[in-house]
Amino acid sequence: MEKHDVVVIGAGPAGLAVAAELRRRGVKDIVVLDREAEAGGVPRHCGHWGFGWESHRRLMSGPDYARRLVADAAGIDIRTATTVLEFRSPHVLRVHTARTAIAEMEARHIVIAAGARESSRAARSIGGNRVPGVMTTGQLQQSVYLQKLKPFTKPVIIGGEWVSFSALMTCKHAGIAPQAMLVEDAKVDAPWFFPIGARLRYGVPVLTSATGIEILGTARVQAVRFQRKGKAQTLPCDGIIVSGHFVGEEALLNAGALTEFRSTPDGFGHITLLGNIAGPLKTAGRCAAEARAAAAGIMERLA
Ligand SMILES: Cc1cc2nc3c(=O)[nH]c(=O)nc-3n(C[C@H](O)[C@H](O)[C@H](O)COP(=O)(O)OP(=O)(O)OC[C@H]3O[C@@H](n4cnc5c(N)ncnc54)[C@H](O)[C@@H]3O)c2cc1C
Repeated sequence: MEKHDVVVIGAGPAGLAVAAELRRRGVKDIVVLDREAEAGGVPRHCGHWGFGWESHRRLMSGPDYARRLVADAAGIDIRTATTVLEFRSPHVLRVHTARTAIAEMEARHIVIAAGARESSRAARSIGGNRVPGVMTTGQLQQSVYLQKLKPFTKPVIIGGEWVSFSALMTCKHAGIAPQAMLVEDAKVDAPWFFPIGARLRYGVPVLTSATGIEILGTARVQAVRFQRKGKAQTLPCDGIIVSGHFVGEEALLNAGALTEFRSTPDGFGHITLLGNIAGPLKTAGRCAAEARAAAAGIMERLA
């Protein structure tokens, strides 16, 4: 079985930044694992600008930021297309790669930097028909920036977190014209000027206090119906972007040997959670900066 000082699960901003900082501080035996084909995490899929201020004191596009983080980690053993399936025991991971199929890997310290994902339509209690053309912001970005597709032309965005405004930028990039942003709460969960920018720069109205949202359509999305200010409204559209409501990628923590191990008093001594898995949703730069800062504590635990 392979044995390493540190195994980092996730080659996003948090995983790459902590690996680079640990190496800078002298840890030689570090392996970073990521299930995707390339390292970089979510920023790799976000073609728009707005990444990196907190960690590199400059703003970059998502892919440029991902490349920068990978460059900072140059020389570290980063293995892509490698999925961590579960903890076999507190220090041993079960890992799947196309080359070796299933293997086991032991580490003195394990960093889990597996990120977060947006909640599905079902988890958000959005009613109506199950039709094609409904996706999260993350799926939209993969579709537009990685696969160069235009999944719809006139969607409605559901959600009012800052990531919902990222969906606007992605739509503009692809020549997609959102019809509105429907926000279930009375206010957006983003800086106050975001809704003004949505209206003035993108021509998209932000409709707060939209409740009872239902998707209409048979073969694909045709409209969205909702209640607002005591009235039912129907907006024609050909797609739905369900954005925000992030939840940590906690599957590894809730399955396998770790569940039992977690209940012991000093259970997490050799495991560190970094980045968005540890919630609430932070910017990529903040995830990287916090991950760098965590390296000193990991060094102490390795000593
Ligand atoms: C649509 C969208 C737009 C955004 N826009 C901005 C923006 O403009 N500016 C900004 O600063 N931030 C933005 N963010 C937030 C930013 O992307 C995140 O804060 C950042 O990527 C979090 O970094 P992370 O390392 O915690 O996780 P991630 O970037 O999610 O990386 C986690 C990595 O772990 C891997 N992984 C997960 N589970 C496993 C497993 N079991 N085995 C192996 N690998 C695994 C994943 O493949 C992934 O590569 C946006 C996020 C989204 C979704």
